[in-house]
Amino acid sequence: MLGLYIHVPFCKKICDYCDFHAFPAPEWLKLEYLDLVLREVSAFAERHPGAFSAVKTLYVGGGTPSALSPEQMARLFGILAGAGLDFGRLKEATFEFNPESCDAERVAVARECGITRASLGLQSLHQRLLDRVGRSHSVETGMRALDLLLSGGNLRVNADLMFDLPGQSLADLLQDVERLAGSGVGHISLYGLKVDPARRLGIRVSKGLETVDEDLYAEMYLKSVELLEKCGFSRYETSNFARAGEESLHNLNYWNRGEYLAFGPSAHGFYGGVRFYAPEKYARWRDYVKNGCPREGLTLDTLTPEDVAAEYVQLSLRTKYGMRLDGLKKLGYSVPEEALSRWVSEGYAELSGGVFRLVGRGWLFMDTVVLDVYSKME
Ligand code: SF4
Repeated sequence: MLGLYIHVPFCKKICDYCDFHAFPAPEWLKLEYLDLVLREVSAFAERHPGAFSAVKTLYVGGGTPSALSPEQMARLFGILAGAGLDFGRLKEATFEFNPESCDAERVAVARECGITRASLGLQSLHQRLLDRVGRSHSVETGMRALDLLLSGGNLRVNADLMFDLPGQSLADLLQDVERLAGSGVGHISLYGLKVDPARRLGIRVSKGLETVDEDLYAEMYLKSVELLEKCGFSRYETSNFARAGEESLHNLNYWNRGEYLAFGPSAHGFYGGVRFYAPEKYARWRDYVKNGCPREGLTLDTLTPEDVAAEYVQLSLRTKYGMRLDGLKKLGYSVPEEALSRWVSEGYAELSGGVFRLVGRGWLFMDTVVLDVYSKME
């Protein structure tokens, strides 16, 4: 299945922990960005006729896509349709909103243009925690945005929550999980905070002005999973939980090693067996597009058979579907059963019907298990 990702690099204000490529932008820059996306998308469509009409899922992420005005959003959708994307035939089209720019006009444009799924960056339903990590929205704005997206019933809705925030207790987090699980959303993404020492929050932590209790991480994750499952949400990927049928098809395609086109600064794509990365900084991306999008302007990663097998291990173990031993075999590799049974006997994984998958506390050691399995591949 072919996906399509568009990166919108703008945010009204940069959160204190952010490590994405995002920045506040004046109107003229947003207009320039759209002109550049048009050129980038058109250059690709010319070189790969029929590619856009084969796309099955769209994901517009960022940054904050809703930092675009309603007119700019409509223009972006128009650019994609002009390149051959048939919104009517997509299985899923997701647009990310941040609460402060999620208003009736933008939601109406998204719906009219064929968006079928919205993802809302709530992160916490506690004002003091939002303030502590420098989010620009309030809890009230967040809940109003959520109600707006849920009203009308024709959008599937995801909400993002974060845990292990400075000052967050287990009770704070579980309150958020419960409130959100009962709000009508079909999907919740739950991410642990990563403190980057180069960002404002990380600098405060290294100066001792802020603390993040890393010892709470495991308990917060496991208790949230338990509560989400009790509320009818199934963990289908380490950070993603859905009611039946509400899984993100676009993201499942990533974890299934499906291909996807990608446009915008820092966008990563996978097409024709090659992973590619657009220039990360906006100015470099602008030069790349103005130069006609030469292939040598992208970072290309042609995968060896070993890379493909390693990706298969890494991506499949992220999901509840697990790693199929015959799937690995088809790629020309295998892992001795003793290597896997060690994780099974420790209660971190199960092996049944030729599928190896994480269970219980094993999810907390996903990276270790992946590295171990990868190192034993032969
Ligand atoms: S909204 Fe997301 S992308 Fe934007 S600054 Fe905050 S963390 Fe970064």
